[in-house]
Amino acid sequence: MPQGLIVKALSGYYYVKPDDTALDGTIQCRGRGIFKKKGITPLVGDRVVYTPTTNGEGTVDEILPRTSELIRPPIANAKLAVLLFSVREPDLNLQLLDKFLVHIEHAGLECLICLTKEDLLDEAEREQEGEMTKLVSEMYGKIGYKVIITSSLTGMGTEEVKACLAGEISVFSGQSGVGKSSLLNAMLPGLSLETSEISMRLGRGRHTTRHVELIELENGGYVADTPGFSQLDFLELGVEELSLCFREFQNFAEGCKFRGCSHLHEPGCKVRQAVDEGAITSSRYEHYVQFHEDMKEKKRRY
Ligand code: GDP
Ligand code: ZN
Repeated sequence: MPQGLIVKALSGYYYVKPDDTALDGTIQCRGRGIFKKKGITPLVGDRVVYTPTTNGEGTVDEILPRTSELIRPPIANAKLAVLLFSVREPDLNLQLLDKFLVHIEHAGLECLICLTKEDLLDEAEREQEGEMTKLVSEMYGKIGYKVIITSSLTGMGTEEVKACLAGEISVFSGQSGVGKSSLLNAMLPGLSLETSEISMRLGRGRHTTRHVELIELENGGYVADTPGFSQLDFLELGVEELSLCFREFQNFAEGCKFRGCSHLHEPGCKVRQAVDEGAITSSRYEHYVQFHEDMKEKKRRY
């Protein structure tokens, strides 16, 4: 039976792109009745087995096992989150960056960090020793996150980002206004996602149609057209899971004196020692402590 990829879901239909490259376009499918009974919802990004019906439509018969599942936006099998932060407008906020990273780690996705709007730096800033984009690249690079500096205006970094998306399903994440739509547009000639500039001119909010669609790149990659991790509360995360989402802590946590060490007050904590010795960046640790407090506070209130 033929297989394909759900690239769009809308009004109870699933649009399946056949694996068979001889077939053009997508096939509009309904889910099998049994899915509903069992409470199974096919998602955009699902690899499925389908049966073509005589009217040119089809039925999704089987969903192949998922490698990941996101709730917002509802997408299956995403492998990479591209996290965008602008160097300016809005200013770079490392606390928020770390918060996004926690969510991405928790979802089990790989992460690529893009520092956008590089063109807004002036010449003097670029020359500066310890300039922000260099510092951030170095700091997060050391932890194991790839950082690419981009500008949708000059095209800087766009090809490099595109290369990272090849053959995988990705979601773009980041505050509104950091340039997600602009970067996608810059990467994809022919695509024209509405940027906030345009929606403001038209006097309306963006993403008025609430459906998710995958945008296909010519290198076999797919990008979700709606941003991921937009609602950043910590409700779905357990307090004890938080430290696991700081990947560089893992190099030291095993040596802590107490099992299940929270790295806050316990004696013999190797994570805190690593912070003191500069092996873990103090801003990362500070954000960990803040998030920990926020989470405990939230859990008290709910
Ligand atoms: P989104 O909300 O993350 O999708 O951000 P948009 O792509 O809508 O961009 C928000 C604003 O930043 C718009 O006014 C864009 O024109 C502007 N912008 C986006 N990328 C760049 C860039 O690389 N350089 C500059 N100078 N402005 C940009
Ligand atoms: Zn510890």
